[in-house]
Amino acid sequence: MDLKFTAQEEAFRTEVLDFLRERLPQRIADKVHNGRHLTRDDMAAWHAILNEKGWLANHWPKEYGGPGWNAVQKFIFENECAIAGAPRIVPFGVNMLGPVLIRYGSEAQKRYWLPRILSGADWWCQGYSEPGAGSDLASVRTSAVRDGDHYVVNGQKTWTTLGHYANMIFCLVRTATDVRKQEGISFLLIDMNTPGIEVHPIVTLDGEHEVNEVFFTDVRVPAANLVGEENKGWTYAKYLLTYERTNIAGVGFSVAAMARLKRAAQNVTRNGKPLADDPQFAARLAKVEIDLENMKTTNLRVIAAVAGGGVPGAESSMLKIRGTEIRQEISSLLRRAMGPYAAPFVEAALEEGYAGEAIGPDEAASAAAQYFNNRKLSIFGGSNEIQKNIIAKMMLGL
Ligand SMILES: Cc1cc2nc3c(=O)[nH]c(=O)nc-3n(C[C@H](O)[C@H](O)[C@H](O)COP(=O)(O)OP(=O)(O)OC[C@H]3O[C@@H](n4cnc5c(N)ncnc54)[C@H](O)[C@@H]3O)c2cc1C
Repeated sequence: MDLKFTAQEEAFRTEVLDFLRERLPQRIADKVHNGRHLTRDDMAAWHAILNEKGWLANHWPKEYGGPGWNAVQKFIFENECAIAGAPRIVPFGVNMLGPVLIRYGSEAQKRYWLPRILSGADWWCQGYSEPGAGSDLASVRTSAVRDGDHYVVNGQKTWTTLGHYANMIFCLVRTATDVRKQEGISFLLIDMNTPGIEVHPIVTLDGEHEVNEVFFTDVRVPAANLVGEENKGWTYAKYLLTYERTNIAGVGFSVAAMARLKRAAQNVTRNGKPLADDPQFAARLAKVEIDLENMKTTNLRVIAAVAGGGVPGAESSMLKIRGTEIRQEISSLLRRAMGPYAAPFVEAALEEGYAGEAIGPDEAASAAAQYFNNRKLSIFGGSNEIQKNIIAKMMLGL
C-alpha cells in the first residue's frame, strides 16, 4: 500500500489550489478561519462558485453533473478546501438527497430535483430526528396517511440544521405501524411553504441559531413526492447516512485549526514566555498533533483501500470518533490558550467587521463559542457511542 500521492494526484492538488486561490473569496475565508458567522448568502455564494466550475456535486456520477472524481481526488479536494478556509458545502441537497435520488428516485424526480439542487434553486434540510428518535432512528413517529393523490403528514422533527433557510425538507415518515418498525418508514419530499408547517428555533450553547424544531399539522404532500416505494424508506435512509459519514474525519478542518492554535500558542505569553514553551501546554499540543498525524495516515489507508475497490467498514466509525475527538481537543486547547480572554461570550464579535473594544488576542473573541459549537461533532452523524457499538459489532462480533 502506497500512502504517497502519485504525480497525477499532485497535479490535481495543484489545480485545486490554483482554483481556491483564484475563486475562494478572501472575505469568506477570513470568516471561516476566524470562526465568524457565515450568512446564508456566504454559503450560497460558495455553492454557486463550485457549481459554475462543475465541482459542486463531487459524489455524483458525471451524467448528472458530477466531475467524475475518484476517492483520492475527492479527499484531496475536500481537505484543501478546508485548509484554505472554504465554507463546508451545505450537505443536505448535494451530499445527502442527491445520491438518494440518483439511486432510488424516479426519472421524473431526477429530472426535476437534481438540476435544482445544483443551481441552488432549492435549499434542502434533513427531517430525520424526532424527540424519541435520534440514535434509535427507526422509531420515527411522524405519520403520513395516504388520502387520494396526497399524503397527510402530522408530527414533529427536531435538530433540523438550517431549517429556517430551507424551502424543502426530506423526511422519514411512518406509513405503517403493524409491521417491524424499520418496515413501516417512507421517504417523503416536503415543500416547507405548505400550510401546516411551523419552524421554531433552537438556540444552542454557543448562542447560535443553527438548528430548529419543525412541526407538521395536517400537511398535504403530493404522493408524487414519495421517493422509491412506500415502506422502503429505511433502506434509502441508511444509504443516505453512508454519504453523511463520508469524509467525517474532517482532517482538513483539524489541520487548519491546528495551524491557528500553534499561531496562538506562539503569540500568547505566560510569565513573559510564549505559551508554546509551557511544558504542560506543549505536551497537550504535541499529543493532539501526533493524534492528528496518525489519523491522517489511517484516513489515507482507508482512501487507498476504497480507491482499490474496497468498502470502508468499521474504519468510517473509527475515523468519526478520532476525527471529532481531535477537533474538540484543538478547540479546547485554543480556549485554554486564550485564558481569561476566552471567558466573555461576545456574540457581536462573531459578526464580520466587529469593531468593538479589543479584548485580548485576535483568536479570543470566538474561542468560547467555537468550543461550545464543537460539542455537536460527537453527537450528529451518529453519536460516538453509537459508532463504538458499530465497531464492536463489526470487529468483535458483539
Ligand atoms: C447540532 C446538531 C445538528 C443536527 N442536525 C440534524 C439535522 O439536520 N437533521 C436531523 O434529522 N438530525 C439532526 N441532528 C440530530 C442528531 O442526528 C441526533 O442528535 C443524534 O442522532 C443523537 O440522537 P439524540 O439527540 O436523540 O440522542 P439520543 O439518541 O437520545 O442519545 C443520548 C445519549 O445516549 C447515547 N446512546 C443512545 N443510544 C445508545 C446505545 N444504544 N448505546 C450507547 N449509547 C447510546 C448517545 O450516544 C447519546 O450520548 C443534529 C444534532 C445536533 C446536535
